[in-house]
Amino acid sequence: MSFQSLGLSKSILDALAAKNYETPTPIQRDAIPLVLEGRDLLGIAQTGTGKTAAFVLPSIDLLVKANVRRRPMRCRMLVLAPTRELVSQIADNARAYAKHSKLTVATVFGGVPVPRNIRDVAAGVDILVATPGRLLDLIDQKCLGLGELEILVLDEADQMLDLGFIHALRRIVSMVPKSRQTLFFSATMPKDIRELADKYLTDPATVQV
Ligand code: AMP
Repeated sequence: MSFQSLGLSKSILDALAAKNYETPTPIQRDAIPLVLEGRDLLGIAQTGTGKTAAFVLPSIDLLVKANVRRRPMRCRMLVLAPTRELVSQIADNARAYAKHSKLTVATVFGGVPVPRNIRDVAAGVDILVATPGRLLDLIDQKCLGLGELEILVLDEADQMLDLGFIHALRRIVSMVPKSRQTLFFSATMPKDIRELADKYLTDPATVQV
């Protein structure tokens, strides 16, 4: 099994070669073709399984193919994650995978001055990676809108709930278009997470590793 056979574009394959990735991990093998088909996804997977690439790689291809222009104070793909460390890690990966495309990547999280966040999203961004609390601050200050979102990713949903982000998540998801594609990842599937997934996903494919 190779990355070529999963249907990814040449520019992504070049980026993977630069990272010396040779073989897809099981979650990448299972998830990438489903995401490329436009399916919503429920991924039950821990960190270390390669789940970041499983959602970022096909999303980059979809964003490039959709060929929609980023607009000021808007993002096309939003990845929500529980901590600034994880946000930084996801964004670093996304930048490496997208380096042969024209897509832009930005981060938003607490602990950095809000004006810097505002500046980083002012011109619009293709892939925004954010913690839920600071993202809402920007939305409430009318510095960011989610009305044009194409892809929504919730990463480590169980951690986000444990950290008390449920209210922020509900508000954020209420603002994104119903027609978006949603990718939902969690290491565990207790009842509250399953209920959230049922609510946010449409006819999802499930991938478990
Ligand atoms: P993640 O589970 O997304 O945090 O990824 C765990 C680590 O595995 C990261 O350091 C990735 O750069 C690396 N990785 C992801 N996919 C692959 C792959 N197919 N081959 C080699 N390394 C990978």
